[in-house]
Amino acid sequence: MKKESCGVFGIFSSNENETSKMIYKGLLAVQHRGQDANGIAVLDGSKLRLKKFMGLVADTITPSLLSQMKGKVGIGHVRYPTVGTSTVKDAQPFQTDYPKKGIVLAHNGNLVNYVSLRKELADHKRNLISTCDAEIYMHVLAEEMSKSKDIEDAVLGLMERVEGSYSVACFTMDGEMIFFRDPFGFRPFCYGENKDTKIFTSESVALETNGIELKDDVKAGELIICDKHGKLEKRQVVSCKNTAHCMFEYVYFSRPDSILDGKCVYDVRVMLGENLAKTYASDADVIIPVPDTSRSAAEGISRITGIPVAEGLIKNRYIGRTFIMPSQQMRDETVYVKLNPIRSVLKDKHIILVDDSIVRGTTCKKIVNMIKKAGAKKVDLWITCPPIVSPCFYGIDISTHGELIAFNNKVPEIEKIIGADNLCYQKRDCLIDAIGHKSCDLCMACLNGEYRTPTAQNIADKMKNQTSLKKVRYWETEMS
Ligand code: SF4
Repeated sequence: MKKESCGVFGIFSSNENETSKMIYKGLLAVQHRGQDANGIAVLDGSKLRLKKFMGLVADTITPSLLSQMKGKVGIGHVRYPTVGTSTVKDAQPFQTDYPKKGIVLAHNGNLVNYVSLRKELADHKRNLISTCDAEIYMHVLAEEMSKSKDIEDAVLGLMERVEGSYSVACFTMDGEMIFFRDPFGFRPFCYGENKDTKIFTSESVALETNGIELKDDVKAGELIICDKHGKLEKRQVVSCKNTAHCMFEYVYFSRPDSILDGKCVYDVRVMLGENLAKTYASDADVIIPVPDTSRSAAEGISRITGIPVAEGLIKNRYIGRTFIMPSQQMRDETVYVKLNPIRSVLKDKHIILVDDSIVRGTTCKKIVNMIKKAGAKKVDLWITCPPIVSPCFYGIDISTHGELIAFNNKVPEIEKIIGADNLCYQKRDCLIDAIGHKSCDLCMACLNGEYRTPTAQNIADKMKNQTSLKKVRYWETEMS
C-alpha cells in the first residue's frame, strides 16, 4: 500500500478569531496526505498555543480547542511518517527557543541527508526531542537565521545544507511568516489570498474549502515572506533550471479536485485513461475502477473505447488508510475488509480493471482474485502509471528494490503472479503527455532510477545489490 508523506497549511488572518477554524478546515481538506497524526499552532501576540494529536483531524481537534486558539498567525499539519516514528512526539509543527524568541515550523517532504545533519546538530549540542526530519529542518533554519544578515540569506544557507524535498511553513515568535519550497519543487505548495487572509498549503483544495481563490504556486527555490501586517514579498532564493515535480502526486496522491503547478489533477487522470485506451485495444464488456483514485482514468478509457464504466468494487468508506488489523493473518485479509465485489456487475464479464499503480503486487493480486471469484470470465489489468522499479527518497513510502514487483519481473511474469489475463502499463511518454509538464521538469526517479540529488542517487545505486533488505529507512545510514 502506498502512503503519502504529509500535508501542510500556513495562514495569516487579520481576523484572529478565524485563524484556527481555517486551519481546521484546511487540514480536513488535505487529510488524505497523512492520517497518522496532526498538529496545530497559533500565535496570539507573544503567546503560542501548540497542540499535536495522533489520529484524524476530525477525531481529535475539538470546537472548544479551536475557540481557545486565537491569533493572526498559524500553522497546521497532517502527517504520515516517512522518517521518524509513529508517535505524537514526532508530530508537527515543531518549535525552537532560538533565534531570538524562536520559530515554529512544519513541512511536507523528506530529508535525504537526515543522518549526517542529525549528527551535525548533535555536535552543535542542539536538543533534538524527536526523530522527525521537520525538527532537523527547523534547527538548520534556526542556525542559519542566527548567523545570517536576513531571512533570504538564512533560507539560502538551509538550501545549501539540506538535500531532499521540502515545502515549508514557518513563523517567528515575532509574528513574521515565511514559506519556501525546495529548489526542485518536488512536493506541491500553493497559496491564495484575499484582503484579510493569506493561506499557503500543499493542495489548492485547502484554499477552496476556506473560500480563498488559488493565486499561484510557490515556485521551486522560492521564498515568500508574510510580514506582521499580511504583506507578501517574494524572493527567488535559488534559481531553478528544471523542476522535479513528483509525477506520483498526479497519478495517485493528490485529490482530483486539486490544481498542482498549473495542472488539474482530475484532467490529468482522465487523460491517463484516454492514453491507455489509445495505446491498447480491448473488446472488454465493462471497465471497473479500483476505488477511489482510478475513477477518473476509467472515465477516460470509456470516453475513447465506448466501453461502459461500472462500480464493480465497493469500498468500505469507514475504514481509513491507516487501518491496521490486529494479527498478521487478518492483515493479509485487509483488502477483503476494505473492498467487496458486486457479483451481478462482474459475473461472466470480460473486465478492464483500472488501478493507479503496482508497488509490491500483493494488493492487486487479491483484487484480481476477488473479481475472478465473483464470476468474471477475463480480467485485463490496466495501470495508469508505468512500472515502479526504484524506491522514493523524496517523501513517498515506496519500498526497497527487492519488494518492487516490477524490479525483478517482466510483464508476463507479473501477469502470472497477479493472475491477470493481460497487464497493460502506461507508457512513459503517455504519462508525461497527460501531466503536461516537460519530462525534464518531472521527477520520475521511481520509474527510471534517475534521481535529481546526489545522495539519493548514491543510495539507490548501492541498494540495487541489496535486494534482500527488508523495508528500512535507507537514509538511516545514508549507505556511506
Ligand atoms: S521518486 Fe517517484 S514518488 Fe518519489 S518524488 Fe520522484 S516521482 Fe514522486
